[in-house]
Amino acid sequence: MGEVAGQPGSSGTDHISICEVSLRDGLQNEQQIVATADKVRLLEALCAAGLGHIELTSFVSPRWVPQLADAEQLADQAQPPSGVRLSALVPNAKGLERVGRTKLVEITVLVSASETHNRKNLNQSIDETLAMLVGVVGGARAAGLQVRGYVSMAWGCPYEGEIDPARAVDLAQQLQNCGCHQIALTDALGVASPRQTRELVRRLLDVLPAADLALHFHDTRGTALANVLAALELGIRDFDAAVASLGGCPFAPGSAGNLATEDLVYMLDEMGLDTGVDLEALLAAGHLAEQIVGRPLPGKVHRAGPFRREPR
Ligand code: MG
Repeated sequence: MGEVAGQPGSSGTDHISICEVSLRDGLQNEQQIVATADKVRLLEALCAAGLGHIELTSFVSPRWVPQLADAEQLADQAQPPSGVRLSALVPNAKGLERVGRTKLVEITVLVSASETHNRKNLNQSIDETLAMLVGVVGGARAAGLQVRGYVSMAWGCPYEGEIDPARAVDLAQQLQNCGCHQIALTDALGVASPRQTRELVRRLLDVLPAADLALHFHDTRGTALANVLAALELGIRDFDAAVASLGGCPFAPGSAGNLATEDLVYMLDEMGLDTGVDLEALLAAGHLAEQIVGRPLPGKVHRAGPFRREPR
């Protein structure tokens, strides 16, 4: 067992970066359309809580994801404090053209580690997606944009079952070769365990530095924080999360969604690791998110509240 991060002598810094994905990954699963003004309010609440990296929306076709049809308006209306990085998912060249007309300076691109999922999600083979991304990432970099790459279904796929870690590692390398500055491995199915996380992270670290990697867990089966801990012990310092566990797993209706940002911040705070996020303000953002989507959200710390060390 590696040394837990945050203790003297551990490698790397004690700062953990969080990419907040509720506005994109969270809302895209909500059926009821959220008003742009409400998205702006949630963005402001997340910024007020100290989140420094926020995935704002996706420039996907509005026909595919009507919830994110206001991508341009939201990008236009977003006024984050200086130092906050906003990014947007760009699935293809058309998306890049759209984002180029906004003030956003960071995009994310996506390939699935599962051939079947990639075909269902993007309507093309993995090889076709990679060839397309060479152009998209190259075009984005030429326009001065930073590009983050997602390898989705990196642990398991609803159609193909367990994914060979070698395939996820190969795709991570190929995305980096395209020009992505950071690669996020995602488990939207929520099936990863700490053993599998350690195995995948170890293989990734053979070819990429920890600073270029991020992990994106879903809490569908309750293993998200255990996976974060396993990755922390191997030196990973970047994690995605969504306030109050917004998002859901599209393949497991009714289950918990993305790892809740509050749960992640609570655990890291208690371990003495710095996130720059204020938990009380984050809890307020979670309550706002709940109001905006009009249903209770399942995040654990969101529901339980903070731990107050001083006796009442
Ligand atoms: Mg997700």
